[in-house]
Amino acid sequence: MGDPTETTPSDKLHRRGLLFILSSPSGAGKTTLSRKLLERDPEIRLSVSATTRPPRPGEEDGVHYHFVSDDDFDRMVEEDDFYEWAHVFGYRYGTPKGHIREGLKNGQDYLFDIDWQGTQQLKQKDDQDVVTVFVLPPSLGELRRRLEARAQDSAEVIDSRMERARAEISHWAEYDYVVINDDVDECFDRVCEVLDAERMRRTRQTGLIPFVRELMGG
Ligand code: 5GP
Repeated sequence: MGDPTETTPSDKLHRRGLLFILSSPSGAGKTTLSRKLLERDPEIRLSVSATTRPPRPGEEDGVHYHFVSDDDFDRMVEEDDFYEWAHVFGYRYGTPKGHIREGLKNGQDYLFDIDWQGTQQLKQKDDQDVVTVFVLPPSLGELRRRLEARAQDSAEVIDSRMERARAEISHWAEYDYVVINDDVDECFDRVCEVLDAERMRRTRQTGLIPFVRELMGG
């Protein structure tokens, strides 16, 4: 292994950012993986969704979600403010376009914690920039155990989340990459490998053309 602080020429070249989507049923570890990724990597930023769901304890407006009223959400849909939006658990969730388009050009990556519906819509809008990863739990029994351990929800809510987990998992084959979250650290390493490799795709490395031209002597 070389010195991790040493940079290769390609690290300095300009590249286009990407839209990195992590999907999984709730309880499969996606939130932990997202947090670790944002801590490790200053080049990726969370895309903060808007939702009509009320905040849970500890959630902050503008950090976890933009918490908006039904009327605000209607207005945002009308004004075409969303890349995509969907109904989930009786509430609406959407990805505001905001600065994403501009950020991509400047090499900013965005992390998305969205479900399969949002993933399909984003892929339809911008297939080139989107990289999708599905996180599977090791088993449904383990998923239920994790949901119960969170002790945030009633038994009824857990049942409905399990029902929804099955529906979410049925879309696994629509994703580019699939990782099983048996051990969270190992799973995190796999996710980082995907992100690192996708950043090196020739088509994203927009700085390669002038670099190679210079390399070849003009
Ligand atoms: P929660 O209410 O537990 O934070 O999220 C519920 C579900 O909504 C999760 O599966 C999450 O991936 C999904 N979700 C969050 N934001 C968005 C969004 O902007 N668009 C879509 N389509 N789904 C979202």
